[in-house]
Amino acid sequence: MPAELSAAEIRALRRELVAWYAVAQRDLPWRRTRDPYAIWISEAMLQQTRVETVIEYWRRFLARFPDARTLATAREDDVLGLWSGLGYYRRARHLHAAAKALVERHGGEFPREPTLVRELPGVGAYTAGAVLSIAFDAPEPLVDGNVARVFARLFELDAPLGSKELDRELWALARRLVPGSGAGEWNQAVMELGATVCTPKNPRCDACPLARRCRARATSRQGELPRPKARRAAVDVELDVLFVARGRDVLCVRRAQGGRMAGLLELPTIERAQGGHARLHPTEHAGGIVFRVGEVLGSVRHTITHHRIRATAFVGRAPHRELPPPYEWHASDQLDRLALTGLARKVLRVLPS
Ligand code: SF4
Repeated sequence: MPAELSAAEIRALRRELVAWYAVAQRDLPWRRTRDPYAIWISEAMLQQTRVETVIEYWRRFLARFPDARTLATAREDDVLGLWSGLGYYRRARHLHAAAKALVERHGGEFPREPTLVRELPGVGAYTAGAVLSIAFDAPEPLVDGNVARVFARLFELDAPLGSKELDRELWALARRLVPGSGAGEWNQAVMELGATVCTPKNPRCDACPLARRCRARATSRQGELPRPKARRAAVDVELDVLFVARGRDVLCVRRAQGGRMAGLLELPTIERAQGGHARLHPTEHAGGIVFRVGEVLGSVRHTITHHRIRATAFVGRAPHRELPPPYEWHASDQLDRLALTGLARKVLRVLPS
């Protein structure tokens, strides 16, 4: 925490940034509502996903599940189906579980008490701060990636991203800077600055309302801060994906509960053994069925966290028509509506129709 940050400086900082935000903010649909439920959904979607992508998903989700009660009574498949393509499906499962908790514990309303909000599944300090400050103007702080970048540069914080030291400094600053009134505007203003001006690469310092207060700018360290956290090495993965048809139906596999992308549907997928693929040989899938593998249909590239995947799609043949779970047949013209993994969706796009 910069010790020399005076009360007068804090007031000036708030005034200048909020005045900039009033004219420079992007017109985003969730900024036109104070409904905590709608804001909460947008915050969940915006974590890890770009604004441009979220807009349409948010509209569709709100149209289908306009309040916590509707979401609480929805089938998980329907919730995941609407989420399909956004990735990080745990967010959708948490929203679903939290909606049930809102109904059971709070009559379907969003509580205003921070400790009660934090008890909802999947709601961390950031989301609680965002919903409470934006919907209710509660003086709650928040820190996300944008705030971290802005503060690290503005106050020249040297600890690396993801470190306990930086987290402590960032939250201390966020608590000190959030105003007693107008907290929602302030929090959004910091995030907007990070998203549109103080960007990860090439920050537009000439257009920054805080330029003359910025310590990184004064020392030309904008490109250096925040210091990155150590990256995990990328891992290359080769997958064979089988397209198994039965009339108009396509064979899918339901991913196991408890693992990654739990409960989503994918095409039968086999990690390729080193030194070759399964083509023209009987190939056992993890679900226990041995498929025959035919001609190549296409290939796609896909990235999940640090895994760089190259997936090759083949015609597959099942040993019999009736297959036990986790196998499921689905009509090919309905696949779009199902909760498919991002990779399955990509593979289906390159297959001949
Ligand atoms: S002056 Fe530049 S580095 Fe500093 S806060 Fe503004 S955009 Fe970011």
